[in-house]
Amino acid sequence: MDTPHHTTIHKTYQERGYCSRAGYARVREVLRACCWLYNRALEQRRDIYRACGQGMTMYRQMKELTQLRQAQQFWRDIGLTVSRGVLKRVDRSFKAFFRRVKAGEKPGYPRFKPHQRYQCLELASVTAGMVKGNRIKVKGLPAIRIRPNRELPASSRLKALRIVMHGRILTVDLVYEEERKSLATVASAVGIDVGVNERMTFSDGKTVSRRMIDRSRETKLQQAIATKKKGSKRRRKTIATFARERRRNTVRNRNECHRLTTAIVRNYQKIAVEKLAIKNMSRKGGSRKRGLNRSMMEQTWGMLFQQLRYKAEWAGRQFVEVDPRYTSKTCSRCREVRKEKLAVYRVFVCPLCGHTEDRDTNAAKNILRRGWGIRNEGQVCLPFPPTLQRGWEYPAQPTRVG
Ligand SMILES: [Zn+2]
Repeated sequence: MDTPHHTTIHKTYQERGYCSRAGYARVREVLRACCWLYNRALEQRRDIYRACGQGMTMYRQMKELTQLRQAQQFWRDIGLTVSRGVLKRVDRSFKAFFRRVKAGEKPGYPRFKPHQRYQCLELASVTAGMVKGNRIKVKGLPAIRIRPNRELPASSRLKALRIVMHGRILTVDLVYEEERKSLATVASAVGIDVGVNERMTFSDGKTVSRRMIDRSRETKLQQAIATKKKGSKRRRKTIATFARERRRNTVRNRNECHRLTTAIVRNYQKIAVEKLAIKNMSRKGGSRKRGLNRSMMEQTWGMLFQQLRYKAEWAGRQFVEVDPRYTSKTCSRCREVRKEKLAVYRVFVCPLCGHTEDRDTNAAKNILRRGWGIRNEGQVCLPFPPTLQRGWEYPAQPTRVG
């Protein structure tokens, strides 16, 4: 099962945006208006569906938007691509809803959004002229400056542009269509087992230690919020500080995941992981398992695998997810399956051939075999970080081919 090959990929550059004080106020104003439009468009679709059982198309709503624009100067001032973007978003959430209905999943009807949670402006269409150097100019929005850490691919095609406001922080997502750059092939394969004791265990014995998060600041802020009077200015300020701290932790984790997945993709040609079912894992058990659930959630394997998936595709690596059943109860040497409960928790001992190994490493080997049908005994592999520490040197990017 090879990862599909495309010649082009979509790459998102997420940049912090800056504008004038009045500019931020304008972005907030436009967001509010767009939130209103979003909810009205949703309402209209719902009412028409209830009245005559018919759907409302995006194009009919766009026609009505034109009328709105003719009637009100305010809407004329907001660029057409901004307001159309809202209707497109409504359309997308309905399409997703119908897809879920069709697939027999729990449908979850599209919901009205409170303005606090409407934070993203997604343009209906983009032109290359919207990005000039480090300035973003969209009609109806203030000029936004960005300071990219890496150079934007000026020769690539801009596919999408999103402007997101989180509290006081403005971010700009620039999606470019780029040529796929395959990495030089390396002769190594890996199976990865995930767990709570170690965040990841590799079939060649390496591990990435579990993620420990210092939540003391968050807890303190939460307590501070609880003691302040509702509706007071100080409470609002503390909430903003708390949100910033939360976001900082999220970004920190995301960056850590990026460093880790980049290293994995550079090091291994064939990658196998287990197919996750986190939803099921965490729902069972109730309060008894709450502590475990929490530490499981914090390992964010879903994010790691998602990054692995697309980075593997970008780099021309092979990535596969395998059925995880019995991977921790099978002997990686003789393939004997032990169905009874494992008595010694951390160590796997095979009753048939006596093979003794760390439980997670054994499982990782089984995952590798299930995914790629190989064992990686005696394979050569580039050095890999045992834990993620600051200052660790990642291997230089191999020369690109093709
Ligand atoms: Zn055995």
